Amino acid sequence: MLCPSTASDSKVVLITGASSGIGEAAARLLAADGHHVVLGARRTEQLAALAESIEAGAGSALPHLLDVTDPASVQSFVEAAHDRYGRVDVLVNNAGVMPLSRLDALRIDEWNRMIDVNLRGVLHGIAAVLPIMRAQRGGHIVNIASVSGLRVDPTAAVYSATKHAVRALSEGLRQESRELRVTVISPGLTRSELTGSIGDSAVREAVEGQMGIAIPAAAIAEAIRYAIDQPAEVDVNELVVRPTAQG
Ligand code: NDP
Repeated sequence: MLCPSTASDSKVVLITGASSGIGEAAARLLAADGHHVVLGARRTEQLAALAESIEAGAGSALPHLLDVTDPASVQSFVEAAHDRYGRVDVLVNNAGVMPLSRLDALRIDEWNRMIDVNLRGVLHGIAAVLPIMRAQRGGHIVNIASVSGLRVDPTAAVYSATKHAVRALSEGLRQESRELRVTVISPGLTRSELTGSIGDSAVREAVEGQMGIAIPAAAIAEAIRYAIDQPAEVDVNELVVRPTAQG
């Protein structure tokens, strides 16, 4: 069923990792702006509750199971949005994990999970929307990287590598695509569930000790909204948003 936009500036916005943190905050903010948000993550109960809360406020939300590590799951997420609304205007590649540890701890499964979610997941998203956006002759891909995509710190070698890679592939996509907008948003310390993915307890305690200065997820949602709200000919390429108190 096609559901036309209710307003001329109302967009169909797909958000990966919408079940908590930055993705959830972006979904709430963009839905309040009148966009149709399509919510993807593995925890479908959280997605359903979020969609219900958005629709109770007269917003439009479509929850859908999504595992970004599985190309077929990403394809089905994007197809569900396209079938429902007839277009895909924005993909926010936000899903991510951050199981930090020193390399010599050899937590190889966690390295691979970061590569699978943070890097392959973004590529799967791009692959699923590109044909649609090309056919539409327009669209916007917003990739959530990190300040770890701009610097490297101990325990963050693999996480930083994935986020550097996201910045690199975003720049390549931008150069190849004169009809698409490509934005990289690099958050600093932000309140969310992200530290819960750190399996090394000593590292997790150390990182959680730094979270006192973290900014709310809504601050990153505002940056996503800013990029989306620009006129079609204006592509905000990169935004870095970190706490004032972060070094
Ligand atoms: P959260 O842990 O709160 O959110 C992460 C989201 O990713 C969840 O919704 C989770 O949903 C989803 N996710 C994880 N694995 C998968 C998967 N395989 N398939 C689909 N969704 C998945 O953390 P944040 O909101 O902080 O993280 C959002 C992004 O922001 C990440 O890319 C992170 O790297 C980045 N970032 C965060 C910073 C911070 O300080 N918080 C700083 C810099 C960058 P579910 O588990 O339900 O699948």
